[in-house]
Amino acid sequence: MIKPDAVAAGNTGAISKMIEEAGFRIVAMKKTKLSAELAGQFYEIHKERPFYGELCKYMSSGPIVPMILEKENAVEDFRKLIGATDPKKAAPGTIRALFAKSIDANAIHGSDSDANAEIEGNFFFSQFERL
Ligand code: UDP
Ligand code: MG
Repeated sequence: MIKPDAVAAGNTGAISKMIEEAGFRIVAMKKTKLSAELAGQFYEIHKERPFYGELCKYMSSGPIVPMILEKENAVEDFRKLIGATDPKKAAPGTIRALFAKSIDANAIHGSDSDANAEIEGNFFFSQFERL
């Protein structure tokens, strides 16, 4: 998911290009906006963490671009492509190193397991939106 800061900065195209050039197939993609309540639902696993409130506010602050991506070893390879959560610690050339503004407004989300990729894909897309 391309996050509000990166969509607002006009980086949707550049980031999508990096994703495709890294060998991912875009199975589904759209532009949408989360309510604070839906952002809270998406990040439910973080609800005990101190930044949860701010995270929900930020994630509902503007349009986002969720995608379903397909590749061998997709979860691990995508985490490598996006880089560390904190852009100051993200490896050079990663999406967060190039586009993230801060540890919270960090340009992009990537699922952390196959099981969560399934859950998160279903959160945003119906079967009719997958090509
Ligand atoms: N986040 C934050 N402050 C922190 C850690 C995380 O605002 O100290 C936000 C950030 O947007 C991050 C998201 O919460 O991407 C989810 O955190 P997680 O630890 O799952 O990082 P990620 O998997 O996105 O790298
Ligand atoms: Mg995470």
